[in-house]
Amino acid sequence: MLKKVLIANRGEIALRILRACRELGIKTVAVHSTADRDLKHVRLADESVCIGPASSLESYLNIPAIISAAEVTGANAIHPGYGFLSENADFAERVESSGFTFIGPTAKTIRLMGDKISAIEAMKAAKVPCVPGSDGPLDVEDPEQCLKLGEDIGYPVIIKATGGGGGRGMRVVDCGEDLIEAIRLTQTEARTTFNNDVVYMEKYLQTPRHIEFQVLSDKHGNAIHLCERDCSMQRRHQKVVEEAPAPGITAEMRARLGKIVSDACVKIDYHGAGTFEFLYENGEFYFIEMNTRLQVEHPVTEMITGVDLVKQQLLIASGKVLTIKQDDIKINGHAIECRINAEDSETFMPSPGKITRYHAPGGLGVRVDAHIYADYVVPPYYDSMIGKLIVHGVDRQTAIYRMRGALTEMLIEGIKTNIPLQQRILDDDNFYAGGADIHYLEKKLGLQ
Ligand code: ADP
Repeated sequence: MLKKVLIANRGEIALRILRACRELGIKTVAVHSTADRDLKHVRLADESVCIGPASSLESYLNIPAIISAAEVTGANAIHPGYGFLSENADFAERVESSGFTFIGPTAKTIRLMGDKISAIEAMKAAKVPCVPGSDGPLDVEDPEQCLKLGEDIGYPVIIKATGGGGGRGMRVVDCGEDLIEAIRLTQTEARTTFNNDVVYMEKYLQTPRHIEFQVLSDKHGNAIHLCERDCSMQRRHQKVVEEAPAPGITAEMRARLGKIVSDACVKIDYHGAGTFEFLYENGEFYFIEMNTRLQVEHPVTEMITGVDLVKQQLLIASGKVLTIKQDDIKINGHAIECRINAEDSETFMPSPGKITRYHAPGGLGVRVDAHIYADYVVPPYYDSMIGKLIVHGVDRQTAIYRMRGALTEMLIEGIKTNIPLQQRILDDDNFYAGGADIHYLEKKLGLQ
């Protein structure tokens, strides 16, 4: 079993990982920037090491500093959390070659799934349903071929950078006249942003929902799925509210897709927790990408399945055989998560600063994953998410009512937060009905 884990992250997820380590009797090392000395998990960890100045590039993305911190503290494994280095194959490789365990899949798998074209190829080979598309890179030197592809797939299409991420490097094209110019523009952008100008084409789905499947896969060829989450409430491709299970998905659909993705894990030799993201339209699922790490929204799955996903990551990384079987996974009730951001709820401008008063909601079925406290100063350097509010209820309606109450109870003063926006969503009739598509929130806010 792992003895000491270095947590290469900050904020709520660092605290979440620390809690799981503690329950398994694993010692923890916190690494932090100079701006983050007062983070809750830094105070709670067995040891802490300052790895650099506030800038992420010089701290949380500073691979040599993180490896050195593991070395000097005698840690034997590194948990990357989400964001930062969590899907960086070079980092995973450096961790392993320096003699530490990377808590996640192998560098090879991260690389395979990190490139969208190779990920789609691997998924097709594993019989995972994908969006109809170009099946490989576009050759801008052959406009005839590109135009033929556009006609065959049918407009609108979307041009995507194979190395893209974070919702960038994509362009929707409505007709053949605009195609070649759009390919060139996306290529140029991809070259400067991702240092990789390979682009491909996919059918553009106009009103899909975002539905994703959580998986766990050990190093001994065992894989299970832990049902799906609906993350369609998005702004600028960023998830705002997530829930599990997804409204309207039948047990039959869940079992069918779940089996496909867990079989795919075995085929790609996947280790750890992972997520298969799909667009869902007219009853069909279309794979878009796999996240080879823990996700922000993992708690909604934990609440309905009772499985601690971070503990499972630690056990799998230790080489343990998965003891949970597919038949053990049963959906219990419904869970919803609201991301709490330090930002203006109307302009979305970040709102860093000192939290003067803080009161967390509570009660049956209410979970707060947050690192903030009264007098904590939210630094301006990082993502604006300061926590997550998660509720669980016997059914979706109970969960919605519970979340409305919890949002009203949550008191954060001194900075602005998106709680008013979350309240608007939770009070919305179409959210209440369930099954809104990925454009719904932006339309509601008048942003589309
Ligand atoms: P990233 O790695 O940048 O997150 P994804 O491939 O996951 O890129 O796509 C991000 C978002 O872009 C999706 O959640 C969806 O909103 C939109 N998108 C991507 N591909 C398509 C498609 N074929 N049709 C419609 N929307 C798409």
